[in-house]
Amino acid sequence: MHATTGTLYIISAPSGAGKTSLVKALIDAQTQIRVSVSHTTRGMRPGETDGLNYHFVSRDSFLQMLERNEFLEHAEVFGNLYGTSQRWLEKTLAEGFDLILEIDWQGAQQVRKLMPQAKSIFILPPSQEALRQRLNNRGQDSDAIIEQRMREAVSEMSHYVEYDYLVINDDFATALDDLKAIFRANQLQQLQQQQRFSDLLSQLLA
Ligand code: 5GP
Repeated sequence: MHATTGTLYIISAPSGAGKTSLVKALIDAQTQIRVSVSHTTRGMRPGETDGLNYHFVSRDSFLQMLERNEFLEHAEVFGNLYGTSQRWLEKTLAEGFDLILEIDWQGAQQVRKLMPQAKSIFILPPSQEALRQRLNNRGQDSDAIIEQRMREAVSEMSHYVEYDYLVINDDFATALDDLKAIFRANQLQQLQQQQRFSDLLSQLLA
């Protein structure tokens, strides 16, 4: 067992705010952070890999896992079920890794109740226009679908007040710096540093 237990982070954002790219850049730079891979009943998108982006499962298997209490939290988002596996989460935190859950506001509410020490971050786009453009840039979709996504995004964003930190993703590098600062500040908290530097502290106080 590791001396320090990792910190649990919840990151939410409306679709198109750039959450996935920011989290990827963050963990590429910081080896002590892991990202939870959720289970979902939604179909795989082009470019996604089973076990990497999500564990893609049937509705039946998801419901069976739910019945066996295997999820820390779960929610239905746009008609599909999503859930966070509890066992992997506990193991990863116990090993001392910080852990990110990329989940929606409904899951965030459930996790806060169960683990009040979790830190939550909401990522916002710089404007509605920028968000619409990012949703448009994904190609393929009709205007009606994009307007539907915009409504869903506004509804997700209305929950920003429930989060500890807000990051505005206007300039990617700045938003990434902001995210890194949140993680860094947490790692420097007295209790964490005390565990990390227990030898040094004993020497200094001898
Ligand atoms: P997408 O299908 O576009 O990857 O994700 C749709 C929404 O589901 C996003 O808001 C994402 O954060 C959320 N989501 C992904 N995994 C989970 C999960 O395990 N639990 C919850 N509650 N939401 C999730």
